[in-house]
Amino acid sequence: MPSMQETRSETMRFDDLYWEPSSEPIVENDVELEKIVAQAELPVLLAALAAALGDTSFLSSDLQPPLTLVDTQPHPHGGMSPKQQERARALALDGLRQVRDKEITSVDLLEGDAVSDLLGYLTGGREHWHASLKHELDLAPDKGGAPQWNFAEVADGRDFPVLIVGAGIAGIAAAYRYSQAGVPFTVVEDSQTLGGTWAKNTYPGVRLDTPTFGYSYSFAQRGDWPYQFAEGGDVLDYVRDVAERAGLVESIEFFTRLVRLLWDEESCTWQATTRHSGGQERVRTFAAVVSALGQLDRPNIPDFPGAELYRGVTMHSQEWSHDVDYRGKRVAVIGTGASAYQIVPALADEVSGLVLFQRSAPWMLPAPNYHDGVSDTFAWLRRKVPHYAQWYRLWVTLQGIPGRMHTVTAEDGWQGAPLSVSAKNQEVREVLIERLKEQFVDRPEQLENAIPDYPPGAKRMLRDNGVWAAALKSAHTTVVTAGIDRFSERGIIDNEGVEHEVDIVVFATGFKPSDYLDEVEVIGRDGVEIHDFWKGDARAYNGVTVPGFPNFFLIYGPNVGGVVAGSLHFMIERAVEFSLKAVHEVLQRGASAIDVKPAALDRFVEWVDAGNRRLAWGQPYVRSWYQNSHGRVSQVWPYTNVEYWEATETVKADDHEFLA
Ligand SMILES: Cc1cc2nc3c(=O)[nH]c(=O)nc-3n(C[C@H](O)[C@H](O)[C@H](O)COP(=O)(O)OP(=O)(O)OC[C@H]3O[C@@H](n4cnc5c(N)ncnc54)[C@H](O)[C@@H]3O)c2cc1C
Repeated sequence: MPSMQETRSETMRFDDLYWEPSSEPIVENDVELEKIVAQAELPVLLAALAAALGDTSFLSSDLQPPLTLVDTQPHPHGGMSPKQQERARALALDGLRQVRDKEITSVDLLEGDAVSDLLGYLTGGREHWHASLKHELDLAPDKGGAPQWNFAEVADGRDFPVLIVGAGIAGIAAAYRYSQAGVPFTVVEDSQTLGGTWAKNTYPGVRLDTPTFGYSYSFAQRGDWPYQFAEGGDVLDYVRDVAERAGLVESIEFFTRLVRLLWDEESCTWQATTRHSGGQERVRTFAAVVSALGQLDRPNIPDFPGAELYRGVTMHSQEWSHDVDYRGKRVAVIGTGASAYQIVPALADEVSGLVLFQRSAPWMLPAPNYHDGVSDTFAWLRRKVPHYAQWYRLWVTLQGIPGRMHTVTAEDGWQGAPLSVSAKNQEVREVLIERLKEQFVDRPEQLENAIPDYPPGAKRMLRDNGVWAAALKSAHTTVVTAGIDRFSERGIIDNEGVEHEVDIVVFATGFKPSDYLDEVEVIGRDGVEIHDFWKGDARAYNGVTVPGFPNFFLIYGPNVGGVVAGSLHFMIERAVEFSLKAVHEVLQRGASAIDVKPAALDRFVEWVDAGNRRLAWGQPYVRSWYQNSHGRVSQVWPYTNVEYWEATETVKADDHEFLA
């Protein structure tokens, strides 16, 4: 057993708070190993074995996975042919025997060449992906996410306190990276706990709708996740555990809301006004501010006429009242987005009546494993093959680079609008409709309402293992598509004049993602308030910086959310790292602040707008929460992780002004 101190230094060396210095020895016989190999994801296993044994013969080019693009659901083994699989299994069995017989239970940092060979094999030679993938690979000597500098050495004794706002996924990422650089910081968090989204959304059925292994920090690669799509509580436990392992909890001031930021040009500092939940205000001075206050933090409840008349219980999905017992009650759910999609099946069998108000049907990607635990085979491999879970995580990340972007890319001159944007998009549409037809074969009258009237991918796609259709078909479920006219004392009256009497109304009506920083007043240079600058159209260079607001960094800001490709953690971490590089530049130059130039922001926005215009959600006839009130897509990153890695790799001097 390694000592506590050894484990800590290993963790630092590998920049992974979940680094496991050794795995359990393999003691199983060949027959048992054969069974494992039969169910393993082969490219992952071959890569893990090559790394463990230091033997590149496991990476032979004729066993390279073709990385067949994913239209709707992943291809096992990256699309390897049956012949390739057969040979890969024989090789993997031999590898597992070697690991067992040589009693290998750990792997040291790899040489650069070995990393290139491994990534070359997994990516099919796509070298331009390598740099961004190394960011996710613990065993790479140049992983690169952690700052390679230290505040004490660079700051030359100067004061440079940083304020981090919010303690969700983004705020914790920022706090961790800033702590690694030794930059002094304070985190303020409005609520009583950390975790953001995952602390606040506790509705029945809440879980990830993106794969668990694509939803974790590069510096905290938990391997023992119980579910393939983690439950909300598991994600929350993870964020809390990361904060504890990193020693960040003590730096967080809970019940403390940032209400105002005022830039002082003379001292080049921000005056931050925070309000404690008790009402007391405090003004403090910071050299820089990192805003990580979330895009999906503020519930959106439309103004329904007569809402004040309703005598029953109402709640927004994010403000679930656990002391209200919905069992045996009549419940209305308004909305069919990602939250409703999880709430409705969780409630369907428990309530006496369910009324679903649907404006548009969701597109659903087949995901038979949506509620499944990880397999016993995976658990065995994770415990016994050094860093198998990390290789698996890398594999998920890697396949997410192209993701399903090709299915949502619009074709010039395509005639299928407004139902599809290209031949491939139309093909996906037809595949998904076929699946809906199968699901509603016994209720043909419900089928029409279940088919979305917009292109696949134009709005967030959900994961389908059949429970949504089953809930909609339930004898006591009513799907209302007529729209809501008004509330009454007893329930909701639809546009056809039908009154739906219910005991509870759940607003699964989403958030206000475009209203960035809406509840914070941010006054920058020349007294300009950030919302006046934006005029309802939030824009930030790399999603991070805004001209006229020096040393102010947005994390998960405008235009950096990936929806059919990439990982949110990657985007968040890169934004944090970009901000830290900017701070480093300021300190190194002996400057006071960095401000992005307006022209640089304009170029960035033009570039992302051009990208979004050629995608399903950027079509003029599509309306979704990806767009702001101007109709500009202000949420979505239209490119891949690789382009964001490149955009955030350096702080370009030409794009910035440094204040003395
Ligand atoms: C129900 C739900 C499910 C989701 N599922 C997925 C998924 O499967 N995959 C995926 O990639 N993404 C998913 N998302 C998106 C999700 O929001 C992000 O994945 C992630 O949690 C965002 O983290 P964040 O730190 O940016 O924001 P948040 O988690 O919103 O954290 C922001 C924090 O800032 C605090 N705060 C806000 N204003 C202030 C202020 N003025 N002063 C101080 N503190 C403040 C808030 O209290 C909060 O704790 C989901 C979102 C929701 C709502």
